[in-house]
Amino acid sequence: MRSRSQIGRAPSSPSSSAPGLHHEVATTDMNHPTSRDFDIAIVGAGPAGLAAGLYAGRNRMRTALLEARAPGGQLLNTELIEDYPGQKSILGGDLAAIMLGQTLHFGAELITSPVKRITVDDSGMKHIETGEGEVRAAAVILTAGGNPRKLDVPGEVEFAGRGVSYCAVCDGAFFKGADLAVVGGGDAAVEEGLFLTRYARRVTIIHRRNGFRAQSILVEEARRHPQVSFILNTVVEAIAGGEKVSGVKLRHVNTGETSTLPVGGVFVFVGFVPNTGLVDAHLEHDSAGYYVTDPHTMMTNVPGIFAAGDVRSQLTRQITTAVGDATTATMAAMRWVEDTKRRVDVGTAEQAQLVA
Ligand code: NAP
Repeated sequence: MRSRSQIGRAPSSPSSSAPGLHHEVATTDMNHPTSRDFDIAIVGAGPAGLAAGLYAGRNRMRTALLEARAPGGQLLNTELIEDYPGQKSILGGDLAAIMLGQTLHFGAELITSPVKRITVDDSGMKHIETGEGEVRAAAVILTAGGNPRKLDVPGEVEFAGRGVSYCAVCDGAFFKGADLAVVGGGDAAVEEGLFLTRYARRVTIIHRRNGFRAQSILVEEARRHPQVSFILNTVVEAIAGGEKVSGVKLRHVNTGETSTLPVGGVFVFVGFVPNTGLVDAHLEHDSAGYYVTDPHTMMTNVPGIFAAGDVRSQLTRQITTAVGDATTATMAAMRWVEDTKRRVDVGTAEQAQLVA
């Protein structure tokens, strides 16, 4: 029988198991936990995943934090963060390192391997297929974030890495003294456009509407900035160049008038495509593909599978909302694990009585 202490035990040495999968693959069921069996598996180690790992580990849940790349998620693509309480101004990479250290300190096991597929068996146990074998967990919290949406215009794929970029922090320094186009009207476009002024001579933000999704404080800052200008009600129809990008072809959405803006680089910030599709069972999602969750528990329509952060359907995607949602999801997941454990215990006791 699976006892309480087995289920709730935290790894003896938090740091000894990170990073990488070093355990043998075992073939046990929920009643016989092995080194591959966890109470909670968290898929993705951005701010939501790191916060979930912190809460689950600190509450002595056996916690797996699965991440294919360096932990930090979108924090690693963000230069400066000024809207995370307690940190007046901090580099994204530094905040990621602090969060990761805190999460590992409280016992979550970081497993550096891509998650390929998640299935749920008849007992409710979740089977997570990773690049290095299977991990099992009573509850899963999906915090896999997403990837930048593409513009889908001629030249975008051809010039990727030769003038087309989706990350100002990663690539901005390659464009010293250049004239750059930034496409989009959300927080990312305006914030990253401002960041690019450190390197570029001029940044032109091209947006398909007159109004912005970006916070007005950012838009006002960009409007005041001497190196930033705007082209509104305009879409990029193609990215042109030879060896490298030399310009963008534009079309005014109202007049249909076309023009070319000479630029040495194009930074595309037109939103995010959530990393969904890992779970075999159907997970309810909104029209943009984000998971729909119960607002009180962050549980999806599949029992024991929760979602938090950028994969979840919500009003806004901030670091603060990611860690807040992850806290709720983890509290609810812990209850789920305890309830599951009770059900298993009762079932086993009843079976023993029948045999006696
Ligand atoms: P977003 O808020 O979804 O904005 C995407 C922008 O791209 C919109 O202005 C949209 O135009 C435009 N767009 C979409 N598809 C397009 C296309 N095919 N061609 C041209 N333009 C297109 O995405 P985001 O800026 O990446 O931000 C994602 C989330 O992260 C948001 O919730 C945001 O608040 C958050 N974020 C926060 C911060 C911060 O707090 N400092 C920084 C970055 C991101 P329409 O407006 O016309 O739809």
